[in-house]
Amino acid sequence: MDLSEKFFDRALRSIPGGVNSPVRAFAAVGGKPPFIARARGSRLFDVDGREYIDYVGSWGAAILGHAHPEVTAAVEEAVRRGLSFGAPTAAEVLMAEKICAAIDSLEMIRMVNSGTEATMSAVRLARGFSGRKLIVKFDGCYHGHSDTLLSGAGSGVVTLGIPGSPGVPPEIAEQTIVLNYNDARQVHEAFAKNGGEIAAVIVEPVAGNMNLVPANREFLKALRECCDRHRSVLIFDEVMSGFRAAPGGAQSLYGITPDLTALGKVIGGGLPVGAFGGAAEIMRQLAPAGPVYQAGTLSGNPVAMAAGLKTLELLPRMFDSISEKTQRLVDGLNERARACGIPFFCRGCGAMFGLFFTGDKNPCNFAQVKQCNSGHFRRFFHAMLEQGIYLAPSQYEAGFVSAAHGDGDIAHTLDAAANAFKKLRHRTREQNTN
Ligand code: PLP
Repeated sequence: MDLSEKFFDRALRSIPGGVNSPVRAFAAVGGKPPFIARARGSRLFDVDGREYIDYVGSWGAAILGHAHPEVTAAVEEAVRRGLSFGAPTAAEVLMAEKICAAIDSLEMIRMVNSGTEATMSAVRLARGFSGRKLIVKFDGCYHGHSDTLLSGAGSGVVTLGIPGSPGVPPEIAEQTIVLNYNDARQVHEAFAKNGGEIAAVIVEPVAGNMNLVPANREFLKALRECCDRHRSVLIFDEVMSGFRAAPGGAQSLYGITPDLTALGKVIGGGLPVGAFGGAAEIMRQLAPAGPVYQAGTLSGNPVAMAAGLKTLELLPRMFDSISEKTQRLVDGLNERARACGIPFFCRGCGAMFGLFFTGDKNPCNFAQVKQCNSGHFRRFFHAMLEQGIYLAPSQYEAGFVSAAHGDGDIAHTLDAAANAFKKLRHRTREQNTN
């Protein structure tokens, strides 16, 4: 038994399921997760000394690669000045100004500690601002684990096959209307029926929690129009897509302006940070400027701000090259699958990609993603892991490329993928002849 296995067995005794966040447990792909000892650049190193090219990147946060020297230097400097003050700091102002300058729709912003907190607080604010209760969300989008937003969620909720969640009272779940992603007609119908009661619509403009599914423009336009007509708040959850799909967020790709935006992951540079922001008229409703309460002991933490600020400072000049590498990876994977006759489709968006084991060349909602061949994914995942390629352990998650992934990493990944696809072809042939 190797060290990772030993740690996992120990973890199972003291941590529910052995992990502190469900998808890390490998439940969808089987086996036990490697325990990570350290990471640098594009590489993870486990406690048994194995090395992996990492396409999880701390679930999207590590866009510059792991332990980028300038980010770690900024963190070390901040640590020496003190870990947390619970009082205002200049770094928070710089961070607010930097993010508002990068994303056009943001006039004001508030920092929190996670993506869950960001979306939960944005929903509270939208309800407080509108004086209404109902929230519209979309099947397969994941907005963190707050009560209101768990219905019909993607990511770990679907990976583990949990239908909604026990512990969310039905009276709360009833306040959330779940519609199909990319279905403008359903949106119009829901507003025709409940328009006057809808506080907010929340959506991932590029969904990364049901694999990678970008919204189509007509769909987002319908959301904007319905929210305008019925005075509901449009929230874009860009916790994953912010600074990942494009430097100005996915919203900059579509030219559609939300009222509020939730952010996380990249803006923390690997430390626990989230944020929500938007139109000043709405944001000024937050305490202490306004009556909607929201607070956090560690919000705007100086060490986290240092990591985030340095990441956002370095990212703009690297973004195009990360996105070009992502596209090279996507094209290469598609070519290698085609050469082996495996029904497969890979798509990219900025610095994100998604792997679909399906003959369908454009899965655009959760129902279509669920048709993908999970057995193929599982076998591909393990074949890649054995060759030192660390992909997300679920077919409902996106993949992430960083500035630290070099040409050699991409070439090595494509060689490994060619082997993995060949193995799949071999197995499929064997099954067909038996
Ligand atoms: N929103 C989106 C789009 C996410 O992808 C996630 C996490 O993956 C969240 C919200 C929740 O963020 P966190 O895990 O930091 O609470």
